[in-house]
Amino acid sequence: MRTEIQSPTLLLTACLLSFATLVPAEALTPVETTSVLYMKQEEKMARDVYQALAARWEHVTFRNIAVSEQRHMDAIDRLITQYGLTDSTPAEPGRFSIPELQQLHDDLVARGAASQEEALRVGVLIEETDIADLKEALGVVTEPMLQRVFGNLLRGSGHHLQAFQVALGTADGTAGALTCGTKCGAGGDCVAPNGNGGQGNAQGKGKGKGKGNGNGKGNGARGGQGMCLQEGSCPTGQNRGDCTTMANPNPQSTPAPTRRGQR
Ligand code: MN
Ligand code: MN
Repeated sequence: MRTEIQSPTLLLTACLLSFATLVPAEALTPVETTSVLYMKQEEKMARDVYQALAARWEHVTFRNIAVSEQRHMDAIDRLITQYGLTDSTPAEPGRFSIPELQQLHDDLVARGAASQEEALRVGVLIEETDIADLKEALGVVTEPMLQRVFGNLLRGSGHHLQAFQVALGTADGTAGALTCGTKCGAGGDCVAPNGNGGQGNAQGKGKGKGKGNGNGKGNGARGGQGMCLQEGSCPTGQNRGDCTTMANPNPQSTPAPTRRGQR
């Protein structure tokens, strides 16, 4: 039985065919390659910090979001495979080949050990960092597949950020004690990140998910979304950022949120 390749042309053809199965027609630029490989480790940093914080604290949000970060890593792994990139991410949890992410991981795990509230703040910080880095990456990648995946990760990070903010509002007993962002009124930009348990007039800043409904029932579920004030229902002279500090009507009540935290 013959085993040798019969001609250089055939060998070259075989190589090109196997190459073509791995790499799409459009190869990545060096900047795109760097972005993909960096974001892989940034997603891993998020996962590993949340796993560490989940082990330290009972809060369900850490475990839920760690699962989501694993999915984000998987999405980037698919890009790495598809574009034939070389990934140097260590498999071991808590280890990174990018020094700044190693440092960030170590610092944040240490900081999150101080208290559950501080751990939730670490979550906010990670998501804000992730959002900033993904936005930056989206500004430099042009490959449509990368745009799509990074866009999905960005949306996921927005959900995560909101989940940590909701959890913090519950955990520190100051639900509603937040400042209106840009405008106290209709338009969805004046939202308490934590339902205020029934007053129906929580005031805070958030992401535009408010209902624009100023009347609650008196026993609303905590951990839900706050409600916007109607336009014009702010106290006189209070708008654009000076509509502040509704006291939490139930500061002693701090149930753990259970339905948020996954994208
Ligand atoms: Mn993520
Ligand atoms: Mn995240």
